[in-house]
Amino acid sequence: MTKIAVIGAGVTGLTTAYELLDRGFEVTVFDRNRYAAMETSFANGGQLSASNAETWTQWGTVLKGLKWMLQADAPLLVNPAPTLHKMRWMAEFLSNIPHYKKNTVETVRLAISARAVLFEMAEREGIDFDHEKRGILHFYSHQKELAHARMVNGLLAEGGLVRRELSPAEIREIEPALHGEFVGGFLTESDSSGDIHKFTVGLAAACARRGADLRFGTDVFEVEAVDGGVRISSSAGEDKFDGVVVAAGVRSRAIAAALGDRVNIYPVKGYSITVALEDDASQAAAPWISLLDDKSKIVASRFGKDRFRIAGTAEFTGANRDIRHDRIRPLVEWCEKHFPGISTEHATPWAGLRPMTPSMLPRVGRGKKPGVFYNTGHGHLGWTLSAATARIVAESVAAELAPRPASLPAAA
Ligand SMILES: Cc1cc2nc3c(=O)[nH]c(=O)nc-3n(C[C@H](O)[C@H](O)[C@H](O)COP(=O)(O)OP(=O)(O)OC[C@H]3O[C@@H](n4cnc5c(N)ncnc54)[C@H](O)[C@@H]3O)c2cc1C
Repeated sequence: MTKIAVIGAGVTGLTTAYELLDRGFEVTVFDRNRYAAMETSFANGGQLSASNAETWTQWGTVLKGLKWMLQADAPLLVNPAPTLHKMRWMAEFLSNIPHYKKNTVETVRLAISARAVLFEMAEREGIDFDHEKRGILHFYSHQKELAHARMVNGLLAEGGLVRRELSPAEIREIEPALHGEFVGGFLTESDSSGDIHKFTVGLAAACARRGADLRFGTDVFEVEAVDGGVRISSSAGEDKFDGVVVAAGVRSRAIAAALGDRVNIYPVKGYSITVALEDDASQAAAPWISLLDDKSKIVASRFGKDRFRIAGTAEFTGANRDIRHDRIRPLVEWCEKHFPGISTEHATPWAGLRPMTPSMLPRVGRGKKPGVFYNTGHGHLGWTLSAATARIVAESVAAELAPRPASLPAAA
C-alpha cells in the first residue's frame, strides 16, 4: 500500500489522517505528545464559526494593536521586542491588507464546506463532542461596532453565509442568560460549537480502528525528501514513506524550511478558561448558545451541562505558552459581568498558540518536493476549517500518489 506519514495529531493532522484512510492509504501519524490534541487543539473557544471568518488584515486591527500595546488586559498584545521573524511576518501581514475582502470571502466559503465533512466524520464514527447546534450569536454594545458588523455581513453573505440581524429585545429572547446593554447583534443559525479535544481524541480512536499507526510520544527530528519518497527520523528511529503531510501547528514552519518550503507561520498566543458549572444555579445561569463579543474579541461555548469555555486574546510574543494572570483575569471578569449567576470558583486556565499565516489563509496542498504536502496555518479558525482542508489535501495526495493495493511493493 502507499504509505503516507502525517506529522501532528492535532485537529488538522487527524482529520487529514482520516481522509487519507478513506482513500485507501496506509497512514502513520507522528506526535511528540503522548496523546492526541494536547497542544492548540486542547482547549480552544469551541466555535465552528463561519461567522468569524473575517480576516484580521485590516488597518483597523493595526491601529487598535498600536493603541493597545501598553494595556496589559487588551484583547491584542504585541511584545515590542523585535525579532526578525515577527518583523517579517508583520510586514507580510500589512501587505495582505489589500486582500482583506477576497480572503474573508474565501475563508467563509471554506468554513461552510467544512461543516458537512466534520459532521459526517462525527456521525460515522459515533464521536460525542458536546456538539451544540444552536447557532452563534455575535453581540455589540456600540453603534460603531454594529455598523462595522453590517459591512462584514455583506462579505459573509458573498461567501454564502445566511445570518439574521437582531434587535436588543431579540438578543434577550434568544439568550435570556446573557446580561448587558446591547445595541444589536447577529445570529448565525448554521454555526455551532463543540469540544475540539473530545472530537480529536475520538477521531484518533477511529483512525486506529481503521488501521492507522498512531505513534504518540514520538518526536520528529528530521524530514528529508529522498528519491521516490520521504525519510523521517524520529525518536523512534528512521522510516521511509511515499509521502508526508505536515500538520505540525506552530512547528510546521521549521519542518517546511528544512524541506525547502516557506510556510510563514507565527505563533499567536491565546487563552481560555473552562468554568466548572458545579451547582444547579451556575448551570441555570450559563448560556446554551455560543457567543462572540466582538468588542472584547471573546468567544464562549457551553460543553454539556457542566462546562463553560471562554476564550480570547491575541498575543505576539513568540512560542511562549506561559499562562499570565493579567491575561486570564479579563476572561473571568467577562464571565462575571455577562453571567453573574455563574460561580467562577473553579475555572481552569489554558494558553495555546494559533498557527497563523500573514494572509490568515491556511497552507493546503503540495510543497516543492515530490511527496511533500501541507495542511497547516489555520490560525484562529483551525477547528472551523480543518475538515475541509483535510479533504482538499487528501485529494491532492491521491492525485499525485494514487494508493497502491497491498499486494504491490511499498516504499523500501
Ligand atoms: C485561545 C484560542 C481559541 C481558539 N478558538 C477557536 C475557535 O473557537 N474556533 C476555531 O475554529 N478555532 C479556534 N482556535 C484555533 C484552533 O484551535 C487552531 O487553529 C487549531 O487547534 C490548530 O490545530 P493544528 O492541528 O494545526 O495544531 P495543533 O493542535 O497544535 O497540533 C499540532 C501537533 O503537531 C505536533 N508536532 C509539532 N511538531 C512535531 C514534531 N516535530 N514531532 C512530532 N509532533 C509534532 C504537536 O505536538 C501538536 O500535537 C483557537 C485557538 C486559541 C489559541
